[in-house]
Amino acid sequence: MRSFSVDDTIAAIASSPNPAPRGILRISGQAAIASLQKCFANEDGSLISFDRRISSSLSCRLNLDDGRWLPGRLLLWPTHRSYTRQPLAEFHTIGSPALLQIALKVVCQAGARLAGPGEFTLRAFLAGRLDLTQAEAVLGLIDADSSAEFSTALSQAAGGLADPFRTLRSDLLDVLADLEAALDFVDEDIEFVSKNDLLATLNSARDLAASLQSRIECRSVSSKAIRVALVGNPNVGKSSLFNALLCNPAAIVSSTPGTTRDYLTAQIIFRGQSIELIDTAGLESIDWSLAGQHEHFVEEQAQSKTRQQLTTADFVIFCVDSSRPLDEPERILLANKKSNWIIVATKVDCSATELLQDWISTSSIDRTGLERLLDSVIERQLNNGNRERDVVAWTTTRCTESIHQIAAALTRAAEAAELSLGDELVAAEIRVALEHLGQIVGTVYNDDVLDRVFSRFCIGK
Ligand code: GDP
Repeated sequence: MRSFSVDDTIAAIASSPNPAPRGILRISGQAAIASLQKCFANEDGSLISFDRRISSSLSCRLNLDDGRWLPGRLLLWPTHRSYTRQPLAEFHTIGSPALLQIALKVVCQAGARLAGPGEFTLRAFLAGRLDLTQAEAVLGLIDADSSAEFSTALSQAAGGLADPFRTLRSDLLDVLADLEAALDFVDEDIEFVSKNDLLATLNSARDLAASLQSRIECRSVSSKAIRVALVGNPNVGKSSLFNALLCNPAAIVSSTPGTTRDYLTAQIIFRGQSIELIDTAGLESIDWSLAGQHEHFVEEQAQSKTRQQLTTADFVIFCVDSSRPLDEPERILLANKKSNWIIVATKVDCSATELLQDWISTSSIDRTGLERLLDSVIERQLNNGNRERDVVAWTTTRCTESIHQIAAALTRAAEAAELSLGDELVAAEIRVALEHLGQIVGTVYNDDVLDRVFSRFCIGK
């Protein structure tokens, strides 16, 4: 766990680690200007007199240890009007990684310390400049590798998600204030909020929470899904597994399977991650006997759409029927399995066979192992370093449970109000909803949450 002290002056290289025409060194902290004063000078070597009130940009030089100096431009935000809401400066100079490292060392010798990952954005968050969804959007903007991802991240940074959450929070705070006022004057006959108004507010808050939930989930669907193909011999139980996974109560099916000639595909969202399942029905037409001549097998099937699914999938779930012995082609394929294969033993409800430890046992009848299988897909995706970098997916993962809790608390609050169970009970449920809402936008946070969000940033951001 890192500490979140905002008192130190921090510095980092904020530009690309590769050689470039321009490199940027970023410095932030209450004592940033004092540090700059120690190592920067005017172009002619004279002392800079920093204006501590106005943002400015000046040509200057950074004095290195050995009498040499580095020319550049210093951009200064000396007041709370900066990104971090504390004195902040950027030194723009030649983009040589080695030179920038020397410059960073000089600035650190002048009183700054090296910034941790995302520490500038963390300071912006702690100072109220951004909320957590927007901080994650900053990460998304940095990481975006398509224009679609970029525009989603941009709309999130501009308040696409944060605003409706804030509206919900403000509505709930209003109704909570009325309820608490009523509790304070419980002996008097004053009605601060009528039952009808209370119910109307709670129901509309619950609808807003539900719409935010589906909005976040829909945005996640359009983000990159993990593609998972189910393959195996005919009758091993692939289609049953496909259907069972779609009916998983923990997963949300975002589209009904559409039939194509060679395969069925459907998308589910599990733990905030969208997963595209592909039932490669077409594999049944493959002549598995060719699997013995592995090279030819691959080549000969290369044209097949099914095989295309196999090669483009992120993971292959290779299904074997646990109720009968493996056949020869299966043995050969298992011996040649690729690193992205997950071996699943199906029909374990009717099997007495001892299974290998790294296989996942499933039953589409009694639903054994289904969540374990999906968890294993997500875990392998993370372990592979294929971390979904889509900002929305990150936000979704972090927020899904909270939104679910908000909707549940509001439903309980509405029920309590409907049954006139007492304002105290309604207020308690609204407080639960507000607590979870706070976790989404970051008005309630703990070091773990901040660590999870900001440790994914690179240093200098
Ligand atoms: P596919 O050809 O690989 O897609 O296999 P299917 O899903 O069509 O299943 C083939 C047969 O196995 C069907 O009769 C299913 O009812 C049965 N089956 C599939 N999964 C299970 C399971 O988990 N347990 C049991 N007992 N039977 C299963």
